[in-house]
Amino acid sequence: MDLKSLIRDVPDFPKEGILFRDMTPLLQSPEAMSYVSKNFIQNVDLSQIDYFAGIESRGFILAAHLASTHNKGFLPIRKAGKLPPPTKRISYQLEYGSAEIELPIGQGRIMIVDDVLATGGTLQAAIDLSFLAGYKVQEVAVLVNLTFLNQMKFNNKEVFSLVQY
Ligand code: 5GP
Repeated sequence: MDLKSLIRDVPDFPKEGILFRDMTPLLQSPEAMSYVSKNFIQNVDLSQIDYFAGIESRGFILAAHLASTHNKGFLPIRKAGKLPPPTKRISYQLEYGSAEIELPIGQGRIMIVDDVLATGGTLQAAIDLSFLAGYKVQEVAVLVNLTFLNQMKFNNKEVFSLVQY
């Protein structure tokens, strides 16, 4: 399936010089979402996964969809300050400034999911935070990998993605 045709390019958003990849048209297509949920886990042993963990906010949509399709739990990796305690929090560097994400303390084997991998800062922070909060990260995957911005690996393998630019 041609997923790229369902990803809209928006120049100069949210800042001048950034080409934003907007997956809203893909979310509007039940066929595409069904394709995504099947193909996202093509290399994954589902018996080793308890929760799909989504990174706020578009990662929530994908992770919740995967969780319900594959009969697993959902875990929110949120921007700091939104979740009630007990949580763990981590700060990480953005291109300009820094950000903080937070996760409920818990346990279980998880697959971390996000919409776009750009520099990799967010995904790496989510992986580190998950370990800190008590989870075992089995897999990570993104819908779109902007490969010219990162060379990120997880467990010595390239991060799985369905679309690359
Ligand atoms: P990174 O930390 O890898 O530089 O940025 C990844 C985070 O920023 C992801 O959580 C993703 O949602 C958001 N992001 C960065 N670039 C884009 C983009 O072009 N499109 C969308 N939809 N999200 C982006």
